[in-house]
Amino acid sequence: MPQAELIDGKAVAASVRDEIARRSRDLLKAQGVKPGLAVVLVGEDPASQVYVRNKDKMAQAVGFHSVKHTLDAGTPEEDVLALVRALNEDPDIHGILVQLPLPAHIDESKVLRLVKPEKDVDGFHPINVGLLTAGERSAALVPCTPAGSLVLIKRTLGPDLSGKTAVVIGRSNIVGKPMASLLLQESCTVTIAHSRTRDLPDVVRAADIVVAAVGRPQMVRGDWIKDGATVIDVGINRIPAPDLGPDKTRLVGDVAFDEALGHAGAITPVPGGVGPMTIAMLMSNTLTAARRQLGLGEDIPAF
Ligand code: NAD
Repeated sequence: MPQAELIDGKAVAASVRDEIARRSRDLLKAQGVKPGLAVVLVGEDPASQVYVRNKDKMAQAVGFHSVKHTLDAGTPEEDVLALVRALNEDPDIHGILVQLPLPAHIDESKVLRLVKPEKDVDGFHPINVGLLTAGERSAALVPCTPAGSLVLIKRTLGPDLSGKTAVVIGRSNIVGKPMASLLLQESCTVTIAHSRTRDLPDVVRAADIVVAAVGRPQMVRGDWIKDGATVIDVGINRIPAPDLGPDKTRLVGDVAFDEALGHAGAITPVPGGVGPMTIAMLMSNTLTAARRQLGLGEDIPAF
């Protein structure tokens, strides 16, 4: 059986980080400005705390001005909105990221819509969603996970994806829909599959590129994968791992990895695939946002 090539997200993310750090140093030398990233965390969700800590660490590592705002879970919505307004007006801050999920009493879309589109480094503001959907990627800030997934696809298949058949499983605003927009802009023939899709295995079998963003452990079976296809597994699922000991768990993706190895041409592992790319692309978005706000024009690295 053919054995798929492993797509090493950690190594690609490290190369992206190095490039951002270099460009950030250049910006500091030329303009005396560090790209500024503010991350807002409301509440004590343990996973969110880890994400925010990692984002802060990475921002510092690439030479950014990094600010973390940690608010109590009970913080009134108006106070969160006031903080976002202040960050919108802060000239030292070029990127604002509000960590999701927010506590239930806070209207998520109200907060996300308040972030200035040019500082919206998560790419969730309707203006950025619209620009991406309209095919104006170079004017938008693109959501980090799909942007990172596209980098991995291009590193694997080369820069020209035109005419390839792509199936994106999942239609969330954070991953599935922007991923489909990006692949469409690369002239792929794109299908978006979701929980109501009929004959999902057959739909997946048609794809040269499969992006799984569902949140169901190992749902995509090996024999759904067309021979030689490129498989990007976005899913992060924690499952019991009794083989490691009582109460132990492990992370798995949405794709049955061991099975898929025998069919795919290339595949991302979980962990170590898409995950590291997400934070790297957040750094890229922050640098892009800073350059645009400084009037320096486009200089989006292609990676
Ligand atoms: P979501 O729950 O918002 O969306 C899941 C999508 O899967 C939905 O559109 C739904 O229609 C579809 N779906 C559900 N059941 C299905 C089925 N049986 N068949 C086909 N489609 C089905 O999730 P999300 O935020 O898009 O995240 C998806 C996964 O990606 C999760 O595991 C999440 O943890 C992971 N994720 C990883 C990163 C990263 O950095 N690697 C970032 C974001 C999300």
